Amino acid sequence: MSSEKDYDKLLSGIYANLPEKVTKTERFEMPKFEFFVEGNKTIVKNFKAVADKVRREPALIAKYLSKELAVPVEIQNDRLILARKLTGDIINKKFEEFVVKLVMCRQCNRPDTHIEELGHGLRQLVCESCGARTAIR
Ligand SMILES: [Zn+2]
Repeated sequence: MSSEKDYDKLLSGIYANLPEKVTKTERFEMPKFEFFVEGNKTIVKNFKAVADKVRREPALIAKYLSKELAVPVEIQNDRLILARKLTGDIINKKFEEFVVKLVMCRQCNRPDTHIEELGHGLRQLVCESCGARTAIR
């Protein structure tokens, strides 16, 4: 009997074996944080790797999560330490919001974007696929 988890494992194995060119044209796969609880803290193991995947500064993601979850956070090497015990997938849920707001292009819905600082606290999400510019907060 195979569970959904096994299926996911199988899928990610297939993805890992695909040549770069093929995966790039695939629909965007939301990267997921892997985390564990240690005492009163929650530790995200693959924080840097996930930040790299969405091409955002780890500090920007850390700030967002800290604010949204109302938890002090600290980046330690490739990990993010959240100063509270968090259960379930709340971190990934908030991260998905971050990706929708600060990574995905509003026009073409692709993740090939970067953030441009315009000064005075104004920022724009600039799409490298279609050229769309969207003001972000
Ligand atoms: Zn676009």
